[in-house]
Amino acid sequence: MISRFLSFLSLLVFGAAIGYSWAVIGDKQQSLYLLAGALLAGLLWVLLDSWRGYRVRSWLRQGDLATAPQMDGWWGVLSDRARKLLRERERSIAMGEQRLKDFLSAIQASPNGVVMLDANAQIEWSNLTAAMHLGIHPERDVMQRVGNLLRDPVFTAYMAVEQPMEPVVMAGHRHRVSSPVRISVQRHRYGEGKQLLLTRDVTMLEQAEAMRRDFVANVSHEIRTPLTVMSGFIETLQTLDLEAQDQNRYLNLMATQAVRMQGLVEDLLTLSRLEGSPVPNFVNSIPLASLLAACESEARGLSDTLAKGESPHVIAFDIHPTLAQAELLGEQRELQSALSNLLTNAVRYTPVGGRIDVRVEQAADASLSIAVSDTGAGIAAEHLPRLTERFYRVDRSRSRESGGTGLGLAIVKHVMQRHGGSLSITSELEQGSCFKLVFPAKRWRITD
Ligand code: ADP
Repeated sequence: MISRFLSFLSLLVFGAAIGYSWAVIGDKQQSLYLLAGALLAGLLWVLLDSWRGYRVRSWLRQGDLATAPQMDGWWGVLSDRARKLLRERERSIAMGEQRLKDFLSAIQASPNGVVMLDANAQIEWSNLTAAMHLGIHPERDVMQRVGNLLRDPVFTAYMAVEQPMEPVVMAGHRHRVSSPVRISVQRHRYGEGKQLLLTRDVTMLEQAEAMRRDFVANVSHEIRTPLTVMSGFIETLQTLDLEAQDQNRYLNLMATQAVRMQGLVEDLLTLSRLEGSPVPNFVNSIPLASLLAACESEARGLSDTLAKGESPHVIAFDIHPTLAQAELLGEQRELQSALSNLLTNAVRYTPVGGRIDVRVEQAADASLSIAVSDTGAGIAAEHLPRLTERFYRVDRSRSRESGGTGLGLAIVKHVMQRHGGSLSITSELEQGSCFKLVFPAKRWRITD
């Protein structure tokens, strides 16, 4: 401020000096010229100063940092200050915007849906996940009342509750009877009357829960049946004075039920082991020939038992000579259980005297397949997709009679998945069935 005053003063003095000199040279009235010179200089100063002030003011109106006027003096200091302040403000606005963008993209990336509602339950913002879950449009439906867009009575009733504690589960936007989609919605209040809706796809969770319930019910049922039979026999043995021959018959029947329960428990343990253990490594090599030999003797033993003196099944092996030395890479116990399940099934579901063929082949994509085909009753097409479900049986009583647990093919499928392979089933009623294990190229090799 002092420098401004000094500059004004020096210009006045300079003007007065010029006026005075002019009066001396022209022999005019000196005091008048001195005053006029000072006045003119003062006026010039005011004009110049106003012009500079005008430049600063019009720049401040625009607020464009790039066109800030460059000048010195008081107005220069003022515009510099203003420029710095503007720059800081722009930086903090940019930072705020960036933070908001990061925050919104984090919410966008969330697997859960988020909808922000204002005090009138109108949509302020929603992420794409919520839009997909609820069938709303993240831009078009902004400022729409959520109750007008979502008409599900479950949702309407939920929104009517003042402080809901639990989330509500309702049908999702893409829900179809053939492919259900279940969405959980939870409401939270925040700010001044605003609300936050959090949505989550719980379809898989509900399905897993339903599967768990079914599984427990199935296991209980499977165990209860032999237990009921056994306790019936025990009661008979305790209450009736039976002949030794009858006693033996009952004890044999009880033994059969005990074996059945044992088989069921073993299969359950196998399944839980398969689910809980890491994927088999590629270090253990199992000679295919020895695997087949072990399964063959088991199948022949079962066939002899079922034949009861009649001619047993014909079990034939067809292995391409180049594959005689093949080795599988994986878990011996699991692979043996998978193959033996297929062979024993073939024996159990093929009438005595029927034929069972085991064919080992290499496919064009270097995968190795082991196909077990039989001349049994075959399976109707509608059952094929469900055969690998736990406890699924085409003919319940037949499966039980032959000692089946309903878990065999579930185990086979699991084992194959763990080895990166697959199980394919083809069958025709009255024509027999073919169960094929396919191992990818990395899961087998030929030893020299
Ligand atoms: P189970 O212990 O009942 O045999 P699996 O899981 O091994 O259970 O098989 C499921 C169902 O698939 C069986 O109950 C049977 O109906 C059918 N099945 C399996 N293998 C054969 C086969 N080789 N021929 C005909 N049906 C079969």
